[in-house]
Amino acid sequence: MQEKWLITIGVFIIGTMIGSFLNVVIYRIPKGESIVFPASKCQSCQTPLKWWHNIPIFSWLVLGGKCYFCKSKISMQYPLIELITGILFVLLYLKTGLVWYFPFIAASFSALLALVMIDFEYMAVPDNVNFAALLFALIQPDFIHALIYAAIAAGGLYLVGLLSSFIAKREAMGSADVIVAGTMGALLGFPHFFVALFLSALLAMIPSLIKRESGVPFVPFLALATLIIYLYDTQVNMLLEKLIYG
Ligand SMILES: [Zn+2]
Repeated sequence: MQEKWLITIGVFIIGTMIGSFLNVVIYRIPKGESIVFPASKCQSCQTPLKWWHNIPIFSWLVLGGKCYFCKSKISMQYPLIELITGILFVLLYLKTGLVWYFPFIAASFSALLALVMIDFEYMAVPDNVNFAALLFALIQPDFIHALIYAAIAAGGLYLVGLLSSFIAKREAMGSADVIVAGTMGALLGFPHFFVALFLSALLAMIPSLIKRESGVPFVPFLALATLIIYLYDTQVNMLLEKLIYG
């Protein structure tokens, strides 16, 4: 019991560190910069950060959300992403337990989280992060099935996109959505992929009801629905059984 608590705390801390890295990915990938070099520096005064300025969540709190050197404000997005990634890792760990493929499942969802943030800010999704999510999702015990599910999900969505573009006479679905669908297929399998697709459509209705915007990005809803269905797959099974067998 106590051991599980210690592992959970450890998983949370590792999650916040991955969150720190995701901040770098979110900030640098859309600008075409390297995610390895150079070391982090203040975006305002360009002073390289000291090691103790890079501790997830903690540093931001200690520094009061300001640069140590020039005192300019540091976005709250940084500690928030670290916190969210920490919680994400704990939720996934509590779901899967300490299995060998846990790091890959966590990495796949982390890449999806980075995609979501980049999509929100730039309304575009970088292919390399998108493919990273798919690749990580495929590394699991039943690799062959994951690959088949990914292919069917991506192919299916591609066909739906072609058809709706034909009907609507404009591009209805981006290639980014097709790759995300592949990741969803690999992570969830069937029929859960369809449940997640349905849920994401429901979730996407919420902001369009509040605010009539045409360009609401869709990847965040796909990713959120994938996480929910992944975490609650047992409940989804029960629901599907009830729907089918009464
Ligand atoms: Zn500064």
